[in-house]
Amino acid sequence: MGPVRRMKSKTDLINCLLEKYSDLPREAVIKEDLLRSGISFSEDALRVAGGYKPKAYFIFSFDLVPISQMEQQENLRVPEEICLTDGPLKLRRTIVSVRVNPKSPYRVGISANGRIVLELEQRLIADVEFPRLPEYYRRRLANGKPITDIAPTIQWGYLLYLTVFRKCQYYGKREECQFCDINENYRQQKRSGRSYTAVKSVDEILEALEIIAETDSLSQAYTVTGGSVTSSLEGKSEVDFYAQYPEAIERRFPGRWIAKVVVQALPRDEVRRFKQAGIQIYHPNYEVWDRRLFQILCAGKDRYIGRDEWIRRILDAAEVFGPGCVIPNFVAGIEMSRPYGFQTVAQAMDSTAEGLHYFMSRGIVPRFTTWCPEPLSVLGRQNPEGAPLEYHLELLRLWRDIHRSYRLRPPPGYGKPGVGQAVFSVSSFMDVIASPAETGDAMCPAAAQ
Ligand code: SF4
Repeated sequence: MGPVRRMKSKTDLINCLLEKYSDLPREAVIKEDLLRSGISFSEDALRVAGGYKPKAYFIFSFDLVPISQMEQQENLRVPEEICLTDGPLKLRRTIVSVRVNPKSPYRVGISANGRIVLELEQRLIADVEFPRLPEYYRRRLANGKPITDIAPTIQWGYLLYLTVFRKCQYYGKREECQFCDINENYRQQKRSGRSYTAVKSVDEILEALEIIAETDSLSQAYTVTGGSVTSSLEGKSEVDFYAQYPEAIERRFPGRWIAKVVVQALPRDEVRRFKQAGIQIYHPNYEVWDRRLFQILCAGKDRYIGRDEWIRRILDAAEVFGPGCVIPNFVAGIEMSRPYGFQTVAQAMDSTAEGLHYFMSRGIVPRFTTWCPEPLSVLGRQNPEGAPLEYHLELLRLWRDIHRSYRLRPPPGYGKPGVGQAVFSVSSFMDVIASPAETGDAMCPAAAQ
C-alpha cells in the first residue's frame, strides 16, 4: 500500500492506517494519534475525573491549548493519564498521557450505561479507566505545599517526577529550544493560581518522599530534572545543583527507587559525579538528530555546548554508566516541523535512522516522546497540527526494527515492556517491544553491582 490519500474523516484515516501498519500493535496507532491530537472531555467525564488522580503538569504543559482557552477548567480537572481497554478493536491495556485539546475529535465521555468511554467522531474506541488517586496526593508538606507540586507521579504511578527547577536559563527566542514551553508554562501555571514551585529545596523533596515511602508501593523509579543551568542557580553550577538531590535521596532512601537524571550532556567528570551520587540512568537528550535542525531548534544547546560535543559526551557517559544506562531522548515529530524541517516522512526517517544506528550500534538506546505542539512554544504556534500520524507510525516501526536488529534489551527504568503491559505514557516505544511474558523491568548491569 502506498502513501495514504487524504481521507474524508479521521475515522477513515485511522482504519486505513490500522491496515497499513498491521505489524504494529493497534493500541500504538490509537495512542500515537491521541498524543499528537490531544483529548477533549465531556462535562460528565470531568465530574467523574474529580475522584481520580489529576494532571499535575509535571514539567511542560503538554496541552494543545493554553489554560486561558480551557472553558471547562480542564487544567484543574483532567486525569494525568487514561487507560484504554476493549472496544471494537479489543484493545489491550494502554496507558496514554492526557494532553488537553477541547477541539480534538477524540472525546472522553460517559456512555448511556455509565461507563467511561473514549469516542472518535462519536464512535466508540475503547473503555477508559482513570488513574486511582494515591493516598499521598491528599497530603501536604509542613509548609502547606501539595505533593502534586513537589513529587507527582506519572506512568500509572511507576515514576516519581521531580522537576526540581521549573524554569530554564536558555531564555527567549534565540536560546530556548523551539519545541519547549517550560518557561511559558511556568508563567501560565502561576497565573492560574496553582502551587508551582520554581526551585524545590532538597528538604521539600525529602519530606515529600518520606510521605510517599510510607504510603505507596507502586512507584519504582524517580527522575530528577529541570531546565538547563547556564550560569549558576542558587550559587551552584548545573552539576552541583542537580547532584545535591540524588545525593540526599540516596543517603536517606538507599536503593529504594531506580534513580534517573535528565540534564544536559555534561563533561565526563561531572557525569561521574551523578554516578557517585547513586544515579543509575542518565538521559542527555539530543532532541533531534539532524545537525542543521539541532542548530536551529536547539540554538541554546548548540551555542553553549555544540552538537558534536553533545554527541561525544553521550558516548563518554556510556563509559561511565555503561551504554545500556545512557538513554538520550529525542522529540518525535519536530524534525518535520515547518519552516525548517524535512518535507517528507521518508527524509525524516532516513535522518532518524542514521542517529538510531549510530547509538544502537554502540549499545545506547535512544527513546522518544511524541511531540505535543504546545501553542506556548515557537514550533507549536507554527505547527498546530504537529507531525503527520504516518510519521509517528513509521518511526515506531523503524525504532522497533533497529532495536531488534542489534538484539538490545528494553531500556531499563520504564517498567515492563510490551503491549498490554507498558506504562510509559508519552510515546509508544515501550508498547512496540515484543515482551516475553516473564520480562520484568530491565536493570542496568552497572546499577545491579
Ligand atoms: S534545554 Fe531546551 S528542552 Fe530543556 S528545558 Fe531548556 S529550553 Fe526546554
